[in-house]
Parts: sequence; structure tokens; C-alpha cells
Amino acid sequence: MSAITHHIPDSMIAAYASGNLPQPFAMVVASHISVCTECRAALGAHQTVGGALIEQSDEIAISADMKNNMMALLDEPVTPKPVYDAKGVYPGPVMQALKGKPPRWKSLGMGVKQSILAQEGSGSVRLLYIPAGQAVPDHSHNGLELTLVLQGSFSDETGRFARGDVEIGDTDLEHTPIADAGDPCICLAATDAPLRFNALIPRLLQPLFRI
Ligand code: ZN
Ligand code: ZN
Repeated sequence: MSAITHHIPDSMIAAYASGNLPQPFAMVVASHISVCTECRAALGAHQTVGGALIEQSDEIAISADMKNNMMALLDEPVTPKPVYDAKGVYPGPVMQALKGKPPRWKSLGMGVKQSILAQEGSGSVRLLYIPAGQAVPDHSHNGLELTLVLQGSFSDETGRFARGDVEIGDTDLEHTPIADAGDPCICLAATDAPLRFNALIPRLLQPLFRI
């Protein structure tokens, strides 16, 4: 695959390493890390720091058993195998969420489909399927949004995102992602607040994107 240019910020990898990242985001981070050697190394560094803290905590009331268990956890491989499914689209953490079955797509209109993998409180993680040249249906950003490209690529006001790249959007981000020409774009998208797709707006904007 071409080189990944958009990575997970270090602060988010640290939160993931300490188990403090909400589940929907954790799945995106785990998926990115499973295919990105750079972020995998960063995660390793954070886990080493975590391990060193446990090593130093001898004087504190931590039992030897507990310490060993925690060290064993930190030693566990973070990369699920295999990294991708047979078609090379879905990384290990996504395959686990799909339980090895193909996604159950639901149409959002204009050929765009989604498959919700998990919902937890107001957060969710879903797969998005966007035909080449198609814009992502307009949706509001109520919170943080993490989008990992699994196939194809898309472009928006902030840049181009190809396979393995992660876009991080918050309430300040106003963007219209459009799938590039070529393969349909498949993304893994996580939010901590409900995404609200408005079917009417993409319909109105459609003529603009039909270049
Ligand atoms: Zn990375
Ligand atoms: Zn968005």
C-alpha cells in the first residue's frame, strides 16, 4: 500500500495504551495500528513507559501476582492476525467486529451505504461505503469523529486521505468528503456523538458533485 500520511496523534495513542479511549475510537486506533508500523512503534513506546511505571511501583501496595499479570498484559501482541481479510480490505479488529461475515450494508441514498458495527451510549463505530466521485452525505459533527480509510480514497478541504490514513474531525471541522475516482471508498468511522445524516441535503447538492 502507499505510504500512510495521516496518523493517530500521540496523545490518542497514549490514551489507547492506558485503556482510556472510548470503545468506538479504540477500534479505529487498533485498526490503524494493525496496519501502520509507525503508530505501532509509538504504542510500543507508551506500553514500555507503562511497564516502567509498574516496575517502579514496588513500594506501593501492588502484589507480585498483580504486577506479573499486568506485565503479561503489556507483553501481549497488539496486532491481531491476520492483518487484513482475504480481499485485503478489513483489518483484524474490523474482522473481529464483523465476526468474519460480510458487512450488512444499509443504504443512505446516492449509492452511499453504512454498516453499524457497534453502538455504545451516544458513540458508534460504522463502516461507510462511498461510490467513486460521490460525496459523503451531509452529517453534523456533534463531537469527535475518527475516519480510517480501508479502501480507495477521499478528499476534502483539509487534504487527501488514502488507504490507512486517519482523518480526525471535531465540531470545528466543516468538510465535504468526496470519494476519489477509482475503487469505491470504504471507511471505518467512529464518533462519540450521534451522526445525523440528512437525506435531503445531499439530494439538493447532488448536481454540484455530478461533474
Ligand atoms: Zn500511523
Ligand atoms: Zn465528517
